[in-house]
Amino acid sequence: MSITPNLQPQAASRLVAEILWRDLDVEATPDAPLGPRTWYGAGGRAELLAAPRSLIALQTLTMRCYEQAIPVRVLGSGANLLVAEDGVDGVVILLDHPVFQQAQWSVASHHSLTRLHAGADLMGLIQESARRGLAGLSQLAGIPATVGGAIVMNAGGTYGDTAQSLHSIQLLTPDGITRTIPKADLECGYRKTVLPPGIVLAGDFALSPGDPDQIRDHIKEVFAYKSRTQPMADRSAGCMFKNPIDPKAGPTTAQRQSAGQLIDLAGLKGTALGSAFVSERHGNFIGLHAGGSTNDVLALAHAVQLRVLDRFGIRLEREVVVWSQRGEVL
Ligand SMILES: Cc1cc2nc3c(=O)[nH]c(=O)nc-3n(C[C@H](O)[C@H](O)[C@H](O)COP(=O)(O)OP(=O)(O)OC[C@H]3O[C@@H](n4cnc5c(N)ncnc54)[C@H](O)[C@@H]3O)c2cc1C
Repeated sequence: MSITPNLQPQAASRLVAEILWRDLDVEATPDAPLGPRTWYGAGGRAELLAAPRSLIALQTLTMRCYEQAIPVRVLGSGANLLVAEDGVDGVVILLDHPVFQQAQWSVASHHSLTRLHAGADLMGLIQESARRGLAGLSQLAGIPATVGGAIVMNAGGTYGDTAQSLHSIQLLTPDGITRTIPKADLECGYRKTVLPPGIVLAGDFALSPGDPDQIRDHIKEVFAYKSRTQPMADRSAGCMFKNPIDPKAGPTTAQRQSAGQLIDLAGLKGTALGSAFVSERHGNFIGLHAGGSTNDVLALAHAVQLRVLDRFGIRLEREVVVWSQRGEVL
């Protein structure tokens, strides 16, 4: 999610000064490299990387940026992100302080909600939910994400998605107000949740009581499926493209074709361009060799899009978020 006002990058640069954060409880790193914080390990720097240590510090920083028209972006675990080589203007927020990583678990026998804060690591929470006998997250096993990133992307796959057990979210709006938004007021679609501008602070999940062993078995099954079908150890951001809607399935069904299969049928598996390559295991994963560049990934992704369009008349839409100076997407 980014809160990016329409302004020239040079104008923003002048504004991201120490005065913005020096009186706040924020760990601030000017000119911070972003590549090492993403799964691709590539890309440029953030004008300012800011890790607030309290909600009030986050609120104040966000409000100041809003008032001064400074772009704000939120970085999760960087598992669905490509950063442009020349980096990004404005402030990148990191919710890695324990205050943003808490979990308030519901009691298994009650109908209470579990609040998972946005900066928490999803994979650890899934294991913890099994230990506590709470079902509703295991469909997400193996997906690298923070809670915030999983909500924004509506992360998921063959076994289900994040929205499945989501009840509501806590959102910090650009003017510093915390709002609770029920799922019914969000558009949770395929690999995307349409949110008002702001920072997701937490998600409230309706988890149901379950047998810990059964939940663990399900986690193992989902994880085994992912490991069998996807190159989990490559530097990537998971699937590069969304699965396109199948026109033959009719307008009422949201059935989708596998983008990976289309890429495979187009003979592109194993294709390389500079330091980037289409995975042999899963055509929709574009991997990157260590030290490789964002530009190679984008150029290869573009070449794949053109070939699939040419062969099948289908325009693949990118799933991976790209951050650049001019906004969220190149
Ligand atoms: C090996 C691998 C396998 C993967 N498999 C899957 C899969 O099976 N299914 C799937 O759906 N995805 C998959 N992905 C992609 C990725 O794991 C998901 O999209 C995940 O939800 C990204 O979460 P993140 O915390 O890393 O978000 P990031 O990549 O850091 O950010 C993604 C977007 O969310 C925004 N964002 C993050 N946190 C917040 C917040 N608190 N408030 C507002 N905006 C926020 C960011 O600004 C950005 O726009 C895979 C990725 C990898 C590397």
